[in-house]
Amino acid sequence: MDKFAVIVIGGGHAGIEAALASARMGSSTLMLTMNKDTIGLMSCNPAIGGVGKGQLVKEIDALGGQMGRAADACGIQFRILNASKGAAVQSSRAQIDMDMYNRYMKSLVSQQDDLTVKEAEVEKILVKGGRVLGIATDKEEIMADSVVLCSGTFLNGIIHVGLKHHSGGRINEPAAISLDDNLRALGLKILRFKTGTCPRLDKNTINYSSLKIQEGDDPARPFSFSTGEITRPQIPCYITYTNQRTHKIILDNLDKSPLYAGIIKSTGVRYCPSVEDKIVKFADKPRHQIFLEPQGLDSDLIYPNGLSTSLPEEVQLEILHSIAGLEEVKVARFGYGIEHSVVEPTQIYPTLEAKLIQNLFFAGQINGTTGYEEAAAQGLVAGINAALKVKGKEPFILDRSSGYIGVLIDDLTTKGTQEPYRMFTSRVEYRLILREDNADIRLSKIGYELGLVEEKDYRGTESKVKAVKEGISLLKSARLKPGPEVNKTLSRMHSSLIKKSVTLEEVLKRPEVTLKALLGAGFISAPMAENTLRQVEIEVKYSGFIERQIREVDRFRNIEKIKLPKGLDYTLVNGLSREIKEKLDKLRPLNLGQASRISGVTPAAISILMVYLKKVNYCCSN
Ligand SMILES: Cc1cc2nc3c(=O)[nH]c(=O)nc-3n(C[C@H](O)[C@H](O)[C@H](O)COP(=O)(O)OP(=O)(O)OC[C@H]3O[C@@H](n4cnc5c(N)ncnc54)[C@H](O)[C@@H]3O)c2cc1C
Repeated sequence: MDKFAVIVIGGGHAGIEAALASARMGSSTLMLTMNKDTIGLMSCNPAIGGVGKGQLVKEIDALGGQMGRAADACGIQFRILNASKGAAVQSSRAQIDMDMYNRYMKSLVSQQDDLTVKEAEVEKILVKGGRVLGIATDKEEIMADSVVLCSGTFLNGIIHVGLKHHSGGRINEPAAISLDDNLRALGLKILRFKTGTCPRLDKNTINYSSLKIQEGDDPARPFSFSTGEITRPQIPCYITYTNQRTHKIILDNLDKSPLYAGIIKSTGVRYCPSVEDKIVKFADKPRHQIFLEPQGLDSDLIYPNGLSTSLPEEVQLEILHSIAGLEEVKVARFGYGIEHSVVEPTQIYPTLEAKLIQNLFFAGQINGTTGYEEAAAQGLVAGINAALKVKGKEPFILDRSSGYIGVLIDDLTTKGTQEPYRMFTSRVEYRLILREDNADIRLSKIGYELGLVEEKDYRGTESKVKAVKEGISLLKSARLKPGPEVNKTLSRMHSSLIKKSVTLEEVLKRPEVTLKALLGAGFISAPMAENTLRQVEIEVKYSGFIERQIREVDRFRNIEKIKLPKGLDYTLVNGLSREIKEKLDKLRPLNLGQASRISGVTPAAISILMVYLKKVNYCCSN
């Protein structure tokens, strides 16, 4: 009988990161997937990143994960979203050649040392005495010390097009039904969520002449801190809009929508709604934007982003033909909705290990998220923890002050989610210090110590840290003296004139002044790499806010440090209400900070717990 240190079920975005991390950390790893050809398949839109999601990809990259590098290798259009807004909310996004991405991931996984890939449907998780033993397919049992389940939308998936539905994990792929039954039998609470995707259009049947073009950024900024530059020429997307005729067609056919006819009962994606949802919920909006995104360089398919729908095929055609540029469009594949099972995520620890079953980890859409990036981030954390557990090492947990990944996992495991969870910058308290541009500075040391970040990349980050420090101290020490030349240059920058000597740091703090302009004017001559320059500028311009956030983080970490023992009997804590005792007992927070974020757990309850911990001498370490 085969035995592995770690088995990863799933070859999607979560499964890939989990399997690569575990294998790269030296654990013999088996990836089981229903179909080897679909490893790294992008089920929905041909893009990686976006607001809040770009930050996740940068953090995955800084920790030694793969998604950022893969996006750079297969990207066909790169943009920084919110580029005109503050540094805290700027996010990277790239259009991806889907087939290239699929090939890249398949090849990478197949070449990874210590990683075996096998095609099979897992039907059961084998468990004995509350601990995982391995898995069973219809043909064999395979043993493992840890199992990571990343089964995406496949658990008892039901695909809807109009009022017709059938079982399926994704279009033309079977659902995992036995495994769904097995998880329920193991005692896990299961929710049902719904998501949907757009039709795919034949690019040769679109009339582009009236459409607005959207180009990528020039130069393209890569995702990965290890990518030098993007050399592949970028291709444009096009923009069109729905109109009143489109809206009427949708409203006239709402009774044929599985959602509105009450056939789909599961909870849908609030932030990525179907077009029928948008028309109903935002009835006052005269039109909705649609991005026509190419699925790849050699692909004939266009993804009409914004047109997710599960209306019947003939209605989808009518909708499309009502839209400018799409009057004659031919559809290669129709949109559909999918309902699938989700493991209620408060049943897992922030390590992503199940509370009920030791050494069983969950990652990706199965935990109630939507999106490739959210899945990949969890996959990385679960893969790392599965490998650490096997080696008997301390678990890896990122808290809310350390990264978007920490916020994502804390939200899921502490508060749970009643609808598909998508990452946003607004979910992050300390977003001014958790930026895309400094993800390497924040996290690559952890990735390096875990064995996931290569020596040369880590040394590169160390050099960047040094260069940023030197740049800032140079600006603090260099002074500008008033004089006609200096003031003429300042006035060209639309900046007020100086009457006394000031440091360059003070000048750079002025909103209208950029570091590039100061360098260009010859006020300082310090050659700086593009990424160092950006860091220095942000650190100087926002220094007051950043310092305030650092103080807030210190306060946050102080309470996060106070651990709650695993076996703590909350019924013995006098002064807590029964409701709070029950919640704490059920959710088993790891520390006081996590306890304080559970809904209904009051500041008074936290004080009572703190006093109790001191009294029984548990405080701060165990
Ligand atoms: C129709 C549809 C619409 C979507 N719409 C959006 C959207 O609008 N916005 C958005 O951000 N995201 C959307 N997504 C979600 C996005 O595709 C997923 O969040 C992401 O792919 C999840 O990654 P994952 O690794 O968790 O699972 P997946 O990428 O789904 O991969 C699951 C993997 O598990 C394997 N597997 C499953 N069960 C078994 C088993 N029993 N045995 C062996 N292998 C198994 C499968 O073969 C597959 O390799 C959509 C997905 C679908 C299907």
